[in-house]
Amino acid sequence: MVSHELRTPMAAVIGSARTLQQRWRELTAEQRESFLELIAGETGRLAALIGDVLDTSRIEAGTFSFRFGEVDVGELVRDSVATAQLGQDEVRVLAEVREPLPQVRGDADRLRQVLMNLIDNAVKYSPEGGDVEVRAYGEDGLVRVDVRDRGPGIARDDQRLIFEKFGRVSSGGLARPGTGLGLFIARSIAEAHGGVLEVVSAPEQGSTFTLELPLDKPS
Ligand code: ADP
Repeated sequence: MVSHELRTPMAAVIGSARTLQQRWRELTAEQRESFLELIAGETGRLAALIGDVLDTSRIEAGTFSFRFGEVDVGELVRDSVATAQLGQDEVRVLAEVREPLPQVRGDADRLRQVLMNLIDNAVKYSPEGGDVEVRAYGEDGLVRVDVRDRGPGIARDDQRLIFEKFGRVSSGGLARPGTGLGLFIARSIAEAHGGVLEVVSAPEQGSTFTLELPLDKPS
């Protein structure tokens, strides 16, 4: 799966670069522009994929590193939602932070990675025009973040599989690009914070992924 996911964008990048090199003079400005756009898009996907593969091998080797500090989860939620909204306009992404929200001890960059993965998935599996809601709130000495979509949902039997390495399911027949590494990495990050990442979902009922973080990481 990974080698296929690597080869396809790589072939597109190499092909486009060659075409630009060999046929530069005969191409119109728009054609050059579209080859460059393709190269930028595909190299971006390659970088993300390589990042996921490297993270996965570091998790398995026990060398995935964290830099813990005080984290304002509300700010992370607002930032991630703004980024997800900037990247596309087919799905509306809404943030609701219930203040006051206590700070948690964690690695802000890694937690942002978890939120971005959950929000990107929610957008990816939402119907056009559907809403994604991201809610952060403090409860029972924990901070919780719910990412809710109105997509195809995930059957109960598949809910364990999606957190496994390379775990992908059909998600209501929707074929979307991906490697199945995102949720594996996201759950590992949650657990390194002494937290959990769970899903509540049913076919045709949408999905709610919940990240639960303790205020202090247990030593
Ligand atoms: P990827 O998205 O790269 O396949 P993930 O680990 O992020 O990898 O997700 C694993 C699988 O879980 C996806 O392939 C998809 O089948 C399912 N999934 C994740 N999020 C959702 C969602 N919000 N709605 C429906 N299915 C989902």
